[in-house]
Amino acid sequence: MTKIIDGKQIAGTIKEELRQKIAQMKEKGIEISLAVVQVGENPASSVYVNNKKKACEYVGIRSISYHLPEETLEQELLKLIHTLNEDQSVNGILVQLPLPAHIQEDRIIHAIAPKKDVDGFHPQNVGALCIGMPGFISCTPAGIIQLLKRSEISLCGKECVIVGRSNIVGKPMSMLLLREDATVTIAHSKTKDLKQVCKRADILIAAVGRPKMFTKDYVKEGAVVIDVGIHRMGDGTLCGDVDFCDVLSTCSAITPVPGGVGPMTIAMLMYNCVESNVLQRME
Ligand code: NDP
Repeated sequence: MTKIIDGKQIAGTIKEELRQKIAQMKEKGIEISLAVVQVGENPASSVYVNNKKKACEYVGIRSISYHLPEETLEQELLKLIHTLNEDQSVNGILVQLPLPAHIQEDRIIHAIAPKKDVDGFHPQNVGALCIGMPGFISCTPAGIIQLLKRSEISLCGKECVIVGRSNIVGKPMSMLLLREDATVTIAHSKTKDLKQVCKRADILIAAVGRPKMFTKDYVKEGAVVIDVGIHRMGDGTLCGDVDFCDVLSTCSAITPVPGGVGPMTIAMLMYNCVESNVLQRME
């Protein structure tokens, strides 16, 4: 029978582990804090930001909100980032993406001090991941590794195909899988014979941003399917990049949407916040 990988439950376990760790730190007088910066009123961003704040509250991290108006200038946002970089009472800095079009996201990401970059997007952290040095790891791929490990799905020697090569999902995912001794292929919009490439996969990771694109024609019998995509459909329901019902009987394990990868992203953000505090106290 196909295993449904319960991301909500695994994320709950991780948050519980962190809650206990943070409570022990609090007993020693250590407080962890995360600055959450949102610019504008993108409704999806507001949902994500609220979920992150709720998770902070649950595990015992102090979240400090900065909700700036849509017309905020890039210089003003950079000034805030510099202030937060210098503020010793702030451990992690999270700037919710996407930013309004007049602000260059790269400039903002690069301005965050690498030791406070809990999203793991700063080039220094990305580079560290590539060469196996310590650093913050992008939360979604880090969460996928946890999902697989905690579901006792081995990675060593496995044929893994990631579809999508974004800086926040596909590329870091490939590095993490390499670190676990998997054989990794990254496919994208220019890949030829995508179905055949996907059918090679023991573990298929779909991160393209196209609702229900991956049918059973893309999946090898017995493969593990990880669905990163998240889409709100016209009727208000959520779905992923994978056609869950179509693929279900072909694969051996699959993540649902919602309740798969999504909750893990937030759990790993909490993990990175704890790490940021530890890192800064070691200085
Ligand atoms: P991007 O839009 O940055 O990247 C999409 C990638 O998919 C690109 O590399 C693109 O190729 C590739 N692609 C697009 N169409 C096709 C196609 N038809 N065939 C093959 N490859 C294709 O997306 P993200 O990586 O940011 O996100 C991907 C999905 O994951 C989205 O649905 C997003 O909402 C979701 N997401 C979910 C998270 C969670 O916590 N659950 C967190 C982050 C993202 P090319 O490079 O050639 O253009």
